[in-house]
Amino acid sequence: NGGPNDAKNLRVKLVVLGSSGVGKSCIVLRFVRGQFDPTSKVTVGASFLSQTIALQDSTTVKFEIWDTAGQERYAALAPLYYRGAAVAIVVYDITNPESFAKAQYWIKELRKHGSPEIVMALVGNKADLHEKREVPVQDGIDCAEKNGMFFIETSAKTSDNINQLFEEIAKRLPRPDS
Ligand code: GDP
Ligand code: MG
Repeated sequence: NGGPNDAKNLRVKLVVLGSSGVGKSCIVLRFVRGQFDPTSKVTVGASFLSQTIALQDSTTVKFEIWDTAGQERYAALAPLYYRGAAVAIVVYDITNPESFAKAQYWIKELRKHGSPEIVMALVGNKADLHEKREVPVQDGIDCAEKNGMFFIETSAKTSDNINQLFEEIAKRLPRPDS
């Protein structure tokens, strides 16, 4: 067996949405390369990376990750990115309430224009900056619950909860009939 999307080997398109500067590219690089580079340049256009993880039941999930910068400035382009996406990660920065408001905008967009089966995660990043926190954890929890999303706080800097984020998403993916 072993086709690209048999019951044991899934391949999924994942898009990352959220305001500029919340740490989208850092989350992706931490997950894919295990690195954090505080001086990395702003993403131009869309960069594309992939990473495969194995779950306990020996299923593998290959994430094809679209880390979009264009959507930050040109919201009209966003549907081009999330078309066909099986997963959307919506990221905000826990020190930045505006980025949380923007996350709620992206959730609405996804529910209007995304695939009905899309798995959505709400991510409060920069959890290491807890002394500068302005978005209470409970606000993230409530927003995610209201929208049927998975919620987690992460730090791309310390790598806290980064692998957990992708593992939890993988577990929530609809499986093709086996
Ligand atoms: P993007 O515009 O959403 O892709 O954001 P970037 O990934 O380029 O990150 C923006 C800035 O936030 C950079 O200066 C990163 O070093 C910083 N950053 C990203 N993630 C974290 C984090 O978890 N903690 C802290 N303290 N800084 C972070
Ligand atoms: Mg970026």
